[in-house]
Amino acid sequence: MLPTDVLQRAREELLSFNGIGMSIMEISHRSRHFRGVLEKAESGLRELLSVPDTHRILFLQGGASLQFSMIPMNFLAGATADHVVTGAWGKKAVVEAQKCGSVNIIWTDQANGFRTIPDREELRFTPEAAYVHYTSNETIEGVEFDHELVAGGTPVICDASSDILSKPIDLENYALLYAGAQKNIGPSGVCVVIIREDMLARVPAGQASSLDYRAIAEADSMLNTPNTWGIYIVSLVCEWLLERGGVVAIEQQNKAKARSLYSAIDSSDGFYTGHAARNARSRMNVTFHLPDDRLDAQFAAEAEDAGLSGLKGHRVLGGIRASIYNAMPLEGVEALVGFMGEFSKRNG
Ligand code: PMP
Repeated sequence: MLPTDVLQRAREELLSFNGIGMSIMEISHRSRHFRGVLEKAESGLRELLSVPDTHRILFLQGGASLQFSMIPMNFLAGATADHVVTGAWGKKAVVEAQKCGSVNIIWTDQANGFRTIPDREELRFTPEAAYVHYTSNETIEGVEFDHELVAGGTPVICDASSDILSKPIDLENYALLYAGAQKNIGPSGVCVVIIREDMLARVPAGQASSLDYRAIAEADSMLNTPNTWGIYIVSLVCEWLLERGGVVAIEQQNKAKARSLYSAIDSSDGFYTGHAARNARSRMNVTFHLPDDRLDAQFAAEAEDAGLSGLKGHRVLGGIRASIYNAMPLEGVEALVGFMGEFSKRNG
C-alpha cells in the first residue's frame, strides 16, 4: 500500500506540479522544479533515518535485484564475500555474487525452511572478507532480524528492501544499505542506496558507468534520466511519514499491528501456524498456514471476497502472507484478525 494521502496529493498535482502547468513527468530532470523534488526526497530520507554526513543517498533504477549484481561488481572483484542467508532474497544475492568472486555462506537456515536468524555471538566472519551481506527482513518467509548485524572491521551491506523506514536503524553500522522502494518508500522503479563515502573509492576503474556507484554519486543520481515520477512519490511519502512522527512513531504502530496478528495466530489452538520462529517474526510480513493446502486456498479466496486482498503466500512458500507495511492502517489488520477468528470457527 501507498498512503492514501500521498496518492491524493499526487492526483491533485498530476496535471500541474507546483502550479507550473505541467506534470512532474513532463518537465526536464535538470529543471529547478525536479531538483527541488530530488532534494526533498533526499533530505526526507536523511532526516527520517538520521543518515550521517559520512553517507551518500543515491536513487537508482533496476530494483533491489540490480544491487545483487552491482555490489559484487563494485566491491568483490575476485575476493571473498560473507553472506548470511535467511531466506529466498538472500539466496538470490548469493547467486549474483558468485559470478564475481567467492562467497562464504557463514550462516543459513535453509535446511530448516528459513525460519530463524542467527544469534549475535554465532557469526564468524572471514578475516579477509570484502564485506558481509545480509537481508534485514526476508519478505517471502517473514523472517526479520531483531538486531542489526555488527561485524567489527568487515563492511556490512544490508538489503533492507522490506523493512526500511519501519523502525529506527543506526546507519553508522553500514557500509551500504539498499532498498527497492516499493514497500515502505514509494513506487517500484526506484532503488535507494545509502553508501558510506569511503566505499566509493573502492570502485574499480573501468566499471560500466551506469553500474558505478562513484560515477552515480558524482552525478548526484543523475548520470542518466532518473525515475522522476518515482522520486517525486518518494518525496511525498517522506513528507507523510515525517508529519506522523517519523520512524519512531511508525515503529510503535508497526509493533501493535504485528502483535495483533501474531496473537490471532497463537490463540487459534493450532488452526493457524506461524512460519517464523518467535525471535525472528517479521513485523512487515506475517506468514502462516492453515491445516492443509485446500484451506489455505479457501482462506485466501474468501478473504478476497471480504475485501482483504493480497493474502495468498508467495509461490515459493505457499500458505498465507499478510504484508502490513507502514501505510497499512491498524484497522486493516483488525479486519483481518476478525476474519481469521470467524474463518477458524467455521472451518476449525
Ligand atoms: N530483496 C527483498 C528483501 C525483496 O523483498 C525484494 C522484492 N520483493 C527484492 C530484494 C527484489 O526487489 P526488486 O523487485 O526491486 O528487484
